[in-house]
Amino acid sequence: MPELPEVETIARGLARAVTGKTIESVEIRLPKMAVAPPGVDFARALAGERVAEVGRRAKYVLIRLESGRMLVTSLRMTGRLLVQRPGETEFPGTHVVLFYTDETRLSFADVRTFGRMRLVEPGEAWDKSLGPEPLSASFTPEGFIGMLSGRTTPIKAFLLDQQRIAGIGNIYACEALWAAGIKPGRPAGSITKPAARRLYHAVVDVLQRAIDMRGTSVDDYVDAEGLRGGFQNVLAVYGRLGQPCARCGSPIVRTVIAQRGTWWCRRCQR
Ligand SMILES: [Zn+2]
Repeated sequence: MPELPEVETIARGLARAVTGKTIESVEIRLPKMAVAPPGVDFARALAGERVAEVGRRAKYVLIRLESGRMLVTSLRMTGRLLVQRPGETEFPGTHVVLFYTDETRLSFADVRTFGRMRLVEPGEAWDKSLGPEPLSASFTPEGFIGMLSGRTTPIKAFLLDQQRIAGIGNIYACEALWAAGIKPGRPAGSITKPAARRLYHAVVDVLQRAIDMRGTSVDDYVDAEGLRGGFQNVLAVYGRLGQPCARCGSPIVRTVIAQRGTWWCRRCQR
């Protein structure tokens, strides 16, 4: 499932590829994949719109249009956004296609159909339930320490809660906890201030390094240009059951926390 670094990589690629392009028409093959506000026709509303900017919020790709409307895409498990030229083979599970006036197209493909492309009106508070962006100035060590205070939730589950911090998923929660030397099942509120500070820096560092390496391709993730990421080659714990910990040599174990597989080192995560 794409997390913050993967979605950031996709958004950066799309920004290069489609900013300034004008949408000529939209083809919707599976109606549930393209969501518009009541009374608005998704395809008709987009025809003639120009792409002003492409960005990211949490795990959503944002395509801002010149009218002030915005396309908010969640990729969920298997969603892909791919820019294609005329004649290029269509990707399996393509459900929504935005055709640009220059004959290129943006394909929204999703084999498992959990993803959505949503048309948002100017000023609509679509992201009000999302927490701060971990790489923004609004996410500070003191703020993070304050968030943990009094919480009995396991720290791993806390990191995955999008209402607390936006964009962290299973891969980067496991990696950040290993880097900070914190046991994933530990109640969030029991973490000492120095350890919480280490975790804050580990979260920021792991996300930034993953963006620098264009994300993690452990499944079928590819970016908007169809390229795989590189962070899967430097993972410390995620998916590494039984392999030696890079810090202490103990075998990596797997447990389940908040219904998610959790990889960690019993010796050096406390
Ligand atoms: Zn270890």
